[in-house]
Amino acid sequence: MTVNITESAQSAFIQQQPIKMLIGGQWVESASGKTFDTINPSTGSVLAKVAEGDSEDINRAVAAARKAFESGPWPKLTPSQRGRLLWKLADLIEQHAEELAQLETLDNGKPIRYSRGGDVPLTADHFRYFAGWATKLEGDTIPVSIPNMLTYTLREPVGVVGQIIPWNFPLQMASWKLAPALACGNTVILKPAEQTPLTALRLGELICEAGFPEGVVNIIPGFGETAGAALAAHLDVDKIAFTGSTEVGRKILHASEGNLKKVTLELGGKSPNIIFPDADLKYAVRGAMNAIFFNQGQVCTAGSRLFVHASVYDQVVSGLTGAASKMKLGQGIDPATELGPLVSHEQLERVTSYIATGKREGAATTTGGERPGDELAQGYFMQPTVFDQVRDDMTIAREEIFGPVVVALPFEEIEEVAARANSSIYGLAAGVWTSDVKKVHKMAASLKAGVIWVNTYNQFDAAAPFGGYKQSGYGREMGHAVLDAYTQTKTVWVNLR
Ligand code: NDP
Repeated sequence: MTVNITESAQSAFIQQQPIKMLIGGQWVESASGKTFDTINPSTGSVLAKVAEGDSEDINRAVAAARKAFESGPWPKLTPSQRGRLLWKLADLIEQHAEELAQLETLDNGKPIRYSRGGDVPLTADHFRYFAGWATKLEGDTIPVSIPNMLTYTLREPVGVVGQIIPWNFPLQMASWKLAPALACGNTVILKPAEQTPLTALRLGELICEAGFPEGVVNIIPGFGETAGAALAAHLDVDKIAFTGSTEVGRKILHASEGNLKKVTLELGGKSPNIIFPDADLKYAVRGAMNAIFFNQGQVCTAGSRLFVHASVYDQVVSGLTGAASKMKLGQGIDPATELGPLVSHEQLERVTSYIATGKREGAATTTGGERPGDELAQGYFMQPTVFDQVRDDMTIAREEIFGPVVVALPFEEIEEVAARANSSIYGLAAGVWTSDVKKVHKMAASLKAGVIWVNTYNQFDAAAPFGGYKQSGYGREMGHAVLDAYTQTKTVWVNLR
């Protein structure tokens, strides 16, 4: 296999030793002088050394963000000027699209076709969408029943915002967090995941180039237990926005107690994907493939519980098994690759252990379940895996695996499948495949999830709200729904008598 790594490998950015962090408009080493390695999961080799932030760096970044929020040019910018900065950043992302796509793929492992076709353009779109919102943050005039009062509301930024993001869509997650926060006039400390810090830091360079005032965006790479925990607990941080596991989401909530900071959480899932017998089955099988194997299954919305009507169960499972076994595994940077490696050795071990548990509890694989050998042996690869003979109470049918592993479960009745689909601590997303409009609306109403996809799966758009029911989190990202998370309402009473 010949792989042509061009721009990212030669860019000045990745040649830095170490890659520094962004505090108050300056690129600096960590206060401790410590660094950590970021690894290419396709090969297991070190890509770059990165400055390792901890509580001292978080303190400096919070002080810079506070200063930028209270004084200096940022609070004086007009909404239109804030919008223009976001728009300019989107332009710069597009100008550096190929470099960003390669960095994302090298650091995360995802196939380059998705970095190029999805992650990078959607990131630029996200900044453009929220550039438009900067000029539309309106309050209301309130018709109160007290004579001679003019009462109105102002929408003001929350203040200094800490944002902690995961490794599955590093660049897109940075944009989901930064774009609305900045459109609303907040200042930010962003902590990328330790596995994938590169694109967030390169984005930081583009943020500086776009002309955002110093201290408005600070980026601190480092570990969750140190840098992340310090940010979540910091008494001068007004809000934390977090995406990651439900387990860490709970820790964030506890850490917020000190100053009762506002918290929004986008957490895990075990999403049901339901195929009725009247669906276009060929299309539904393709949809089920995308639902579970996109991004190696490392997607919070992954359709990891595939409910199939008993009358078409064998047909669907054999179609899925055939298609999964033909997927082309390979290094992310290879344009032919359909399924890349998992993000880390730790994640590979976690997924491998779930597969072993599934077999031990009596489920059987129809394909996959092993690591590929030969030239992929050094990377963190796992074959796409389909489990049959699964019961709802098995570990692999209940817990989030976050890998290319789907459990197939037959059902008979619509009420039965709705109840089984809802029988989960999670409620992030659900898929429904049918040609019957009555079933569409019955299922959309009865499924307890923040997003329902009908005859499609894994659709995201900056304009469409996204977030979870139950332990999948609270608060919404995207669309105008997210503006509530980054503004607060002030009510002004004026006595006109
Ligand atoms: P985590 O939830 O640990 O990581 C998400 C982010 O939180 C990272 O930036 C991480 O930093 C940070 N973090 C970790 N611990 C703390 C803490 N105590 N305080 C503040 N921040 C913290 O996910 P993992 O990487 O450990 O993945 C484990 C599982 O989580 C996955 O298998 C999957 O099930 C789920 N997950 C869900 C995601 C989603 O999109 N909903 C995304 C990622 C994971 P660092 O990486 O440096 O530890």
